[in-house]
Amino acid sequence: MPTCPFNRNTLSFLGDGISQARCLLRKVMPLGNVGSTPASLPAILESVVGRPCDITRAQLAGYLATHGIHTSEIGGELDQPVSSTDGDVAPATRARYFVIHDTSTPHRDGHFTAATATFPPSINTTAWGGNNLSHAVGMTTHVMLARTGESATSNNYRTAMRATKRERLEVPGPPNALRGLFLHHELVQPRLLNHSNLDEFSPDPGFTPGQYERLAVCYHAAAVRSGTFLIPAFHCVLDMDIPDGHDDPQHFDLAAWGAALQAVRAAILGTTIPEDIPGNNGVLEHSIVNSPDGAANVRSGPSTSADIIAVLHNGDEVDVFEKLNQWRRIAATQAQWIHGSLLAPIGGGGPGDDNLRKITDIAAASAIANFDWPGRGVAPIGYTKGMAVTFARAFCKLRVGDPVAVEMAKAATGNAADDCLVHYREKFASLGMDNSVAGVETLRHLFVLMLGLGMRESSGQHCCGRDQSADNFDAEKAEAGLFQTSWNGRSENDLMVPLFEHYRANPGTGFLDIFHEKVSCSAKDLENHGTGTGVIYQKLAKESPAFHAEFTALAMRNTSQHWGPIIKRAALLKSEADDMFRKVQHLVETEAICPV
Ligand SMILES: [Zn+2]
Repeated sequence: MPTCPFNRNTLSFLGDGISQARCLLRKVMPLGNVGSTPASLPAILESVVGRPCDITRAQLAGYLATHGIHTSEIGGELDQPVSSTDGDVAPATRARYFVIHDTSTPHRDGHFTAATATFPPSINTTAWGGNNLSHAVGMTTHVMLARTGESATSNNYRTAMRATKRERLEVPGPPNALRGLFLHHELVQPRLLNHSNLDEFSPDPGFTPGQYERLAVCYHAAAVRSGTFLIPAFHCVLDMDIPDGHDDPQHFDLAAWGAALQAVRAAILGTTIPEDIPGNNGVLEHSIVNSPDGAANVRSGPSTSADIIAVLHNGDEVDVFEKLNQWRRIAATQAQWIHGSLLAPIGGGGPGDDNLRKITDIAAASAIANFDWPGRGVAPIGYTKGMAVTFARAFCKLRVGDPVAVEMAKAATGNAADDCLVHYREKFASLGMDNSVAGVETLRHLFVLMLGLGMRESSGQHCCGRDQSADNFDAEKAEAGLFQTSWNGRSENDLMVPLFEHYRANPGTGFLDIFHEKVSCSAKDLENHGTGTGVIYQKLAKESPAFHAEFTALAMRNTSQHWGPIIKRAALLKSEADDMFRKVQHLVETEAICPV
């Protein structure tokens, strides 16, 4: 195993930044063995390592604000430098290496073999004490990254910190020569002992998507503060020529980190705002600039510290595509933000509260709002109102040919196994509801069935968590939300993932405030399960009920096998529900009210 030669006079490993990274990111195997071939770097690292940082502090600050990340979680304030060496031996240099460790936290007592060393899913949740970062401050690292995706600063990046044998004078050479050259990151990872008392066993995959994403944010923070994209390095490889070295990190997935780096970089540069769904132009409302001093700054992020990229004047018209706290995004696919206090909404676009209220008033006055559902009781009024506005939105989308709504409203002429409406054909027929023609009638009847399904599955509680009687801890299968549709349902139709991405990018558009009326959410309900995108899905399903309803509607038109109450035809069809949705339909048709 070739080591990566270090030159103590230049304070550098051999070669340019890229070749150093290829050497220092070689695969780390159990017990400290290191792969002999250079790492194949993700394209993003090939293009940035060792190069000047092309991201501004303001851009990064905008990203952090958007994602609710505080600098105290990622090594400290962005306007502070990173650590430097002291210049006693070689010319003083800023930190050059971004070192990746794992914590090798003991998981449980005992001695294990490869066959018996198993890790429960709880290692990726707050339930496992290893993820508790409350003691992170002052530990011998710069940043600690829990498996939940949270992180905490142990020491500010400006503090020279030694966390490897190479730095800690365990090789001959001038004292303190290397202090300040390395920034350290401890990724929380549980270990189990083998029969020789060595902590050989670690989970595979070794880390969570949340850890890779947060480590990517740290990498950009270090770059902004140093002015250069640092050279990433694994602790084990860094120290491999020193006796009794460490073996961390285990099962680090360089490609997964590369994907996270790419996504974070794109988001910082404002290029990841997804295109809106075809047919729905994504405008939340139309506004005019109305500023006390006559002008409004357009910024690159939702923060007063973001760069000013343009100035608009009173009377200028803008479309609002996203609302984030007080900030409004005024471009469909670019990061252009104005403070909401400088805008006044104008008619013709969004619904305004009055229009929404016309719909929710129909719901509140309907017979179905007071219906005593067998075994479930009267629905929370928020459920009935929320389904009314969600139907209005779906109908508006259908009228402009939106593919999601067209799919929901297609004729029910296929197989019972592939379509809830076909599976329920006799029940619909007995109420005189015909679904043989594509259009609003079929769409409305779908919502009638959904209203009954949601009462069976969640009693109309938008925050309903997984079925506690089932064992679905897997993020793919954990049920969530009004209809208990799980993330694995997305395979039913190609429109489901784009729909998820749309609402994920616009989380405030799911009518949560309406659905939440008379609903209370317990901590147990709000727990999400597993790892990966499925966890984000569960959270969004609960926090954006209109998303969950549309996602479920697409699934219902492509399978009838996902929900027990559908299979057993226990979800009730009520003509009173059809009456309510018909009134909402009439309102949309006659007053052009569209809750976007
Ligand atoms: Zn280490």
